[in-house]
Amino acid sequence: MTKDEILQKVFGYDSFNQGQEETIEAVLNGDDVLAMLPTGTGKSLCYQLPAYLLEGAVIVVSPLISLMQDQVEQLRILGERRVVALNSFLNGKVREQTLRHLHQYRFIYVSPEMLRMETILNKLKKMKIALFVIDEAHCISQWGYDFRPDYLNLGKMRVWIGNPPVLALTATAQPEVREDIKESLQFKNPKEFVYSIDRRNISMVVEKYDHHLQKKERLLELVPQFKKPGIIYFSSKRLTEEFAEFLRLNGVKNVAAYHGGMNQEQRILIQQQFLYGQLEVICATSAFGMGINKKNIRFVIHYHMPGQMESYIQEIGRAGRDGKDSIALLLYSTGDEMLPIRLIEQELPEEWQINAYYNLSATKNKLKIVEDLKLTETQLRYLDYYSNDFRDKQAIAGKVIEMRKIRQEIKLKKVWEMSNWIHTKECRRKKALIYFQESYKQSPEQCCDLCQLELSHYFADNVEDHEVKRESWEWRLRKILIEK
Ligand SMILES: [Zn+2]
Repeated sequence: MTKDEILQKVFGYDSFNQGQEETIEAVLNGDDVLAMLPTGTGKSLCYQLPAYLLEGAVIVVSPLISLMQDQVEQLRILGERRVVALNSFLNGKVREQTLRHLHQYRFIYVSPEMLRMETILNKLKKMKIALFVIDEAHCISQWGYDFRPDYLNLGKMRVWIGNPPVLALTATAQPEVREDIKESLQFKNPKEFVYSIDRRNISMVVEKYDHHLQKKERLLELVPQFKKPGIIYFSSKRLTEEFAEFLRLNGVKNVAAYHGGMNQEQRILIQQQFLYGQLEVICATSAFGMGINKKNIRFVIHYHMPGQMESYIQEIGRAGRDGKDSIALLLYSTGDEMLPIRLIEQELPEEWQINAYYNLSATKNKLKIVEDLKLTETQLRYLDYYSNDFRDKQAIAGKVIEMRKIRQEIKLKKVWEMSNWIHTKECRRKKALIYFQESYKQSPEQCCDLCQLELSHYFADNVEDHEVKRESWEWRLRKILIEK
């Protein structure tokens, strides 16, 4: 079959989205490819389609278990049985069996932490690997994102599994980060496809208040009026639940909270209900949305500012994948910057913890140290990563403290840039494009609160949306079929 036939027969599409075809061509050609495609264009097709034309397995490194499971589920719906996700949820016997049959799979999804394990690496070494895919490749840059040290080792892993061609995928990465990705993965014949982060059907609005109670009032006033479905992001788990309740009391019918503290079953249920239109509004932490392939999201509201433009652009990119007009609204109250700043300060161990950790590590058992110093998982990962990096144990604490300082400065600068964007006086779209070093074109008809926009354009008329109705039907049918 040709790639066009596979597109139709396996995936059910008539044509490629922007960026997909070029990327797929280069992958089939055996080049190392970096593709930055805007959220919502269907990045996964760029490796899923070549998997049917290349010989060997496609390995996909993915940062989140929920994201992997969504992808696996979607491939299964398309009829693909040779797909598996290797993650910490696989327990003893199933894991053993899966590993024994690993060579039979076409798609192998794996977390970077799992990929490091010797049993898995050894198995992969003996297999024919057609393509090594890094999803959310911006995690490779160690400075601006969550601290995932195993992402930094993917270049080495690549060599160990026989140097297959690489496809690195990302939605938002500044040019320096893209350079980081290519270098770290040891690109050989690099091909780079970079498309604009600009989603012209998503308007950007910021409303500023003096006090957070005014924000709350405004949120409760707007959400009942907006066309739905929509997502509201909060930076605290507690607030997602409180606001779901407030909204219910304000007449928003199908609303639920979603956060990482809920159990997996609950989370999957809420995702499914949202996907099939049973739920119209989700109050969520940033844990929600990655990998959710819902086309008709009409609004994304931020009740708290994200810590960086990259996260903001990714999160609002979940709106309007059907191409219809959608709105991104950020509610700001004076001093909101303190929230992301505090998170950055707490992310890594403090100076006294770093000193104590390396002083104690020769004498005490590790579990005891972690307990005594009250280290979080990320903090421990950080300390361990650098303890392997430096040979001279004397100098190590000093070095780690220095690295921490650099990392914090970079992250704080990102908060500052996000804050600048909130307080800008020029077109928000233009300002965002400048941040990603893109050139600016003309404003769309509904652009932003600083150039041109009609807020009521996003309000619902009283007629129930056809699409919401249809989704609701699909859900009932699915339920009946499953219960049978
Ligand atoms: Zn504008």
